[in-house]
Amino acid sequence: MGHSMDKDIRPQPGIMDIALYQGGSSKIAGRDDVVKLSSNENPFGPGDLARQAYLRAGHDLHRYPSTDHANLRAALARQFGLDAARIICGAGSDEIISFLCQSYAGPKDEVLYSQHGFLMYRISALAAGATPVVAPETDRTTDVDALLAAVTKRTRLLFIANPNNPTGTMIPLSEVERLAQKLPRHVLLVLDGAYAEYADGYDGGAALVDARENVVMTRTFSKLYGLGGLRVGWGYGPQHVIDVLNRVRGPFNLSNVQLDVAEAALGDAAHITRSVSENARLRDWLADRLTGLGVPTQKSHANFVLGQFRDAEQAAACNAALLGEGLIVRQVASYGLPDCLRITVGDEAACRRVAHAIGTFMDRQR
Ligand SMILES: *Cc1c(COP(=O)(O)O)cnc(C)c1O
Repeated sequence: MGHSMDKDIRPQPGIMDIALYQGGSSKIAGRDDVVKLSSNENPFGPGDLARQAYLRAGHDLHRYPSTDHANLRAALARQFGLDAARIICGAGSDEIISFLCQSYAGPKDEVLYSQHGFLMYRISALAAGATPVVAPETDRTTDVDALLAAVTKRTRLLFIANPNNPTGTMIPLSEVERLAQKLPRHVLLVLDGAYAEYADGYDGGAALVDARENVVMTRTFSKLYGLGGLRVGWGYGPQHVIDVLNRVRGPFNLSNVQLDVAEAALGDAAHITRSVSENARLRDWLADRLTGLGVPTQKSHANFVLGQFRDAEQAAACNAALLGEGLIVRQVASYGLPDCLRITVGDEAACRRVAHAIGTFMDRQR
């Protein structure tokens, strides 16, 4: 049976070009003192209010969830000063990215993003049958002119993450505005704000969304709020875009558990403040330390640092040495950065451990 069906039952064009996304690993065989610094997770985990909401939600597991996410959208609107009618919630911002590609890009269309951009842009573009197109970055930073130069008649979506993963770099809002202004009318600009909360005084582009008809912002509970395992993200855009995305969104795409816990997390000001300030303090400490050890980093605006090694070989050797110490960081060759390692800012003990291990490794390199 299997053989002949392999030839006759075929996926849509593009699907087989998708390389499976590799999540940051979390285990090392034979070790129980492992520190995972490979997925940009909040080292403090979820806050107390989120944990309590999670336990409460267990009583209602027999109930179908709301289809319109009204409570969570209202809470988001209050928290960030937005219009609740123009918010859409999804299973992680990954799902919002997928809705955007599914809705706006298809065969013969192009989805544009920058050189070291998030892998999900390519995956979601291919899944929709569209063609992923990459524009170069300058000094590992989004280059607005290079993106504009890469726009064609076929470009439908342009994704930028600001701050970007895995580089941690960011462009000023004035540059984002210039990009939005200069884009031809058939291109929708998506501002991925997965790390927006970590960037001082940055609104993720929310005001720009309000001011224009061609900008969408995506946000997530996975990073600052410590809820990567819960899978909740959201988008904010012009009404015409949100109305389209809601047509492809499954009515029950988020469970009661997801909705209630996310809403509780949003109200946990103490946890949010502590997470932001500890991240800033330890990120800058770690970046300075690495630079002092001969592993330069660029200024990061997120919850990770990107350490640059002499070459790909040295980066791989350091990764192996860290694994030997029970420390899991992220190799980023799949992002076109084979000479770098991305290291999530952990708690203080984790930051000291990883800095110490890299110091030992670099000493042996001399
Ligand atoms: C982590 C991350 C996301 C968030 O993904 P979720 O699906 O919300 O967990 C989105 N964009 C970038 C650039 C990220 O690094």
